[in-house]
Amino acid sequence: MNREQLERYSRQILFSGIGEVGQEKILAASAVLVGCGALGTVAANLLVRAGVGRLRIIDRDFVEASNLQRQSLFEEADAREALPKAIAAERRLRAINSGVCVEGIVADITPKNALELLSGFPVILDATDNFETRLLLNDAAISLKVPWIYAAAVGSYGVTMTIRPGSSACLACLLETGQKSKALGAEPTCDTAGVLNAAAGVIASVEAAEATKILAGKMEALHGRLVSCDVWSGRFQSVRVARNPDCRACARRDLTYLEGEAQPHITMCGRDSVQIHERSRKLDLRDLGRRLASASAADVRNNEFLLRFRVPPYEMTVFADGRAIIKGTQDLAVARSLYARYISS
Ligand SMILES: [Zn+2]
Repeated sequence: MNREQLERYSRQILFSGIGEVGQEKILAASAVLVGCGALGTVAANLLVRAGVGRLRIIDRDFVEASNLQRQSLFEEADAREALPKAIAAERRLRAINSGVCVEGIVADITPKNALELLSGFPVILDATDNFETRLLLNDAAISLKVPWIYAAAVGSYGVTMTIRPGSSACLACLLETGQKSKALGAEPTCDTAGVLNAAAGVIASVEAAEATKILAGKMEALHGRLVSCDVWSGRFQSVRVARNPDCRACARRDLTYLEGEAQPHITMCGRDSVQIHERSRKLDLRDLGRRLASASAADVRNNEFLLRFRVPPYEMTVFADGRAIIKGTQDLAVARSLYARYISS
């Protein structure tokens, strides 16, 4: 470490659990974060300030006004410009710590690209909002033999657990046996039940602390427990989760979420939105913008990452990889027909 680094990280070096050796390791380490919403922005901020050498952030979404209450890296201008979260986060994090290599990737993580996006990192952090993707991360982490940290928050409640393939219980041990009630129920989401910024902040902080231990090479410091808290009632809990000796994923290595059929091309994405990804080719957003402007689409706007337009009562946002988020419907057939009409050709 040079003098600047010794000064910058002095309070972390003074902490006996890390010290100078631990800090050296953090500076040389990397992490990959999946999802950059309430949990992801908090965890990314902490890891970048802690000095992680390299951080990859994968997120499929763009910043909206309703994110600003809890997604602490974003500002009003990001929502106005509808910047992809991965890009807005990358910009902000670079300004926070120019010594960290931050790489924002605008993508939806799927069985097809998961191993490519996640491999090469000693730890994977979950900051997603659905169990489909978390079980994919679980399978990918088992396949890659790297630890990953599960985290979720909804309402005033949050839960997190560090999963070390081969030595701790995995998410399938937790969800696919009778222990499910200990995990966060799959039903309520932030889009239906809301979420307190403090609940996300506590859980993402515990998650970042666990990641810091891994990055500093202090594996023995991992507590190995499922931690949950309710910031409204003040109830905090930490329990041991037993491994399932017959677990589909970590015992039998039946990695269905990773190897199974590719995820459906059409998925629900929030309360009032559908995501469609039916193209394998990249889109020329400028060309599409010109075509739409001369068609019946209204308010065609674009930045270098996405294009957005309205076909009342719907709003469509299209990414360069051909993915689209259609807001204003839960009907998959309606979404598919809008996609076919305005995007695929
Ligand atoms: Zn398991």
